Amino acid sequence: MKGQCHCGAVQITVPEPPEETLHCNCSLCRKTGWRGGFWNPDVVKIEAAPEMLNSYVQGDKMITLWNCKRCGSHTHWTPRTAPPDRMGINMRMFDPDDWQHLPVREVDGASL
Ligand SMILES: [Zn+2]
Repeated sequence: MKGQCHCGAVQITVPEPPEETLHCNCSLCRKTGWRGGFWNPDVVKIEAAPEMLNSYVQGDKMITLWNCKRCGSHTHWTPRTAPPDRMGINMRMFDPDDWQHLPVREVDGASL
């Protein structure tokens, strides 16, 4: 399954769709319009020139959130102190037909 940011500077490849997508009510997910999917970083390919990626670290500093410097799309996050076997990708970077039929897990991140 292949996805990309709006301008195409960041290309994302994963071997298969996730079993479910995550919809979270925390402030970061709300403001970025995030819809999450989890994968092991070993199977994810992120292709982008380093100067095209902007990083954002906040709050508990558990993850780094990445966005495209040109179009601003929030593409993925990588673990900092969070468990290293999991990273998140914004499902909105993929074609809706590839994931909108998947079950949605509501996450109450605002209360964590
Ligand atoms: Zn872009």
